[in-house]
Amino acid sequence: MSDTPEHTQNASFAQVGDVLRDHQSFVLLSHVRPDGDAIGSQLALGYALMALGKSVRLINEDGLPENLAFLPGSERIESPPAEPFDVEVAIALDTATYPRLGERALHAASKAGLWVNIDHHISNTRYGDVILIDSTSPATGQILYDLITSLGLPMPAETRDAIYVAVSTDTGSFQYPSTTAKTYDMAADLIRRGVNVGAINSATYDESPFRRLELMRALLNTLERSPDGMVAHWLLRDHVRVDLGLMPEDSEGLIDFIRAIRGVRVAVFFEELADGKIRVSMRSKDRRLDVCKIAAEFGGGGHALAAGIRMKGPLDVAKAAVLDSIRRRVDEVSRES
Ligand code: 5GP
Ligand code: MN
Repeated sequence: MSDTPEHTQNASFAQVGDVLRDHQSFVLLSHVRPDGDAIGSQLALGYALMALGKSVRLINEDGLPENLAFLPGSERIESPPAEPFDVEVAIALDTATYPRLGERALHAASKAGLWVNIDHHISNTRYGDVILIDSTSPATGQILYDLITSLGLPMPAETRDAIYVAVSTDTGSFQYPSTTAKTYDMAADLIRRGVNVGAINSATYDESPFRRLELMRALLNTLERSPDGMVAHWLLRDHVRVDLGLMPEDSEGLIDFIRAIRGVRVAVFFEELADGKIRVSMRSKDRRLDVCKIAAEFGGGGHALAAGIRMKGPLDVAKAAVLDSIRRRVDEVSRES
């Protein structure tokens, strides 16, 4: 993969279309610990390419999470094979940095001669040969909807449903401020094309495994709020993951409960990972409190209102450092206003 400055300009939809039409074999990748937008984007573009008669592999470092297995066609999501395979084009979806694609997935895709990077993270490092990054888009799935419809590519049912779920999950069910009239127009079009709204939303949101609520109970026991009520956090120690038999996706979205507390401006979730690293997940309700910038101080990234870090432990040290940085920023903003 090359990473030269002349590739920092966005490609046009027509240029991306040429890449898709002029090649026969593709591998589509997305980030580690994939969420609805990551897997949804792989399925959306993957099935459109399959409908064009292309040879397509859909690979994720961590495989298909159980909570997204309801998506039609998701059985095509594979864990990385041990050996690299012959493929012309690799397409990275919804992934801000090259390493977040995962080491084994990158090794498997390493024979690709051309790399395409399609994403909506403002922190995207613009790796790859052909780049399509729109940080105003609420989800990579919405960029793919625009791409597929404007190029007149096929939209099989797998693509249609995957786009709906990608955008629904990345917008907190069409709620976050990145949601625009265009997003609702897109959703309306997908419904006209046959999305079953009731069924797809209940499969997305009403099928939690019981252990997810047990996790919630454990998290609530660790909930703390700063004296001024502006910063709230909770944490997950590794033994709780083991005791409850948790899967990585079980915590997905739970941070929204502390984000939703009145007076809270920044919500933080600290998680001890099996490898000893600490995963930090942050949400802000105030554009001036840009959590992507705070994440970047620790090598993480994301969006202004939702960002994350994977950092060195132990948990208590990481927690103190991140909360300290948030506190300094909250104090700065309070002084400005
Ligand atoms: P979440 O908190 O839901 O895991 O992630 C929120 C946002 O931050 C997502 O857009 C995600 O891609 C990004 N993000 C989460 N963790 C990391 C990380 O370790 N590095 C980078 N660069 N971005 C992250
Ligand atoms: Mn996304």
